[in-house]
Amino acid sequence: NHVTPQALQEFLTALNEEIHERADWGEVADYIPELADVDPAQFGIAVVLAHGTVCSAGAASKGFSIQSVSKVFSLGCVLGRIGEQIWTRVGREPSGSRFDSILLLELEKGRPRNPFINAGALVVTDELLTGRTPRDALSEIIGYIRAAAGDDDIHIDKAVAQSEEKTGDRNRALANYLKSYGNLKNPADYTLGTYFHQCAIEMNCLQLANAGRCIAGLPGAPMLLSETRARRITALMLTCGHYDESGDFAFRVGLAGKSGVGGGLLMVAPDRASIAIWSPGLNETGNSRAANYAAERLAQFTGWSIFG
Ligand code: GLN
Repeated sequence: NHVTPQALQEFLTALNEEIHERADWGEVADYIPELADVDPAQFGIAVVLAHGTVCSAGAASKGFSIQSVSKVFSLGCVLGRIGEQIWTRVGREPSGSRFDSILLLELEKGRPRNPFINAGALVVTDELLTGRTPRDALSEIIGYIRAAAGDDDIHIDKAVAQSEEKTGDRNRALANYLKSYGNLKNPADYTLGTYFHQCAIEMNCLQLANAGRCIAGLPGAPMLLSETRARRITALMLTCGHYDESGDFAFRVGLAGKSGVGGGLLMVAPDRASIAIWSPGLNETGNSRAANYAAERLAQFTGWSIFG
């Protein structure tokens, strides 16, 4: 499946036009008031190929709130810090439930099913916070993302973090519930504050695609993850990266991806490419409608499905 940069670039340019013609944008997330103001009719895509060539189209340099895409990097960070011990606190199974569901937490006694649903991500962030101030834990996460992207110009949008802080009652419930089972080490407010800020990191598609190089195992990527860990994070992205739509994403696209309610999608084609797509309008499962469509079209065009 050799795709030339030129053919890929032509494809992306045409895809951007197709997405705008379709105009099937979905609804922006409105439970975080600051995200409710974003115009859904936007689309960007960036693909970093194995030898560093970058192809992009649309609003690829426009910043957006990465939200749950940050969970891929906080997981990388915590694995670097405490290694496989994290799996005593969080599982590796798809949840089949919404990203903010509390349902399985009771059945499974406070051990979230995976690190990409909110409850699991709260546990990961709580671990990163242990022994540090929220400020230091956040510097570690953002430092990791900057190193992965090779770009220091990546910041937290404080207005988005504060906006979620005001309306984050469901996450507050999850954190307190985890605490009741002894699976939260820090005061719930500290863990939640750190988590809301981590989700409020702003990046554009070009930065995000660069940050995904270490997960895709591209030559020349910063050495932040061992091959084994990159492979395992990819497995979790495939099985859990789209919450209760993960099976459908694997069925339609055949690549590992992690979504966020800001409309971002980070996708990896192991050894081939790191891909970031953004369109803020969401479907019913909280995944970007146009980004999912674009991912499917890209996988068809490139033949990069991991299933052959
Ligand atoms: N910050 C968001 C939340 O906790 C992240 C969710 C998401 O992107 N799916 O609700």
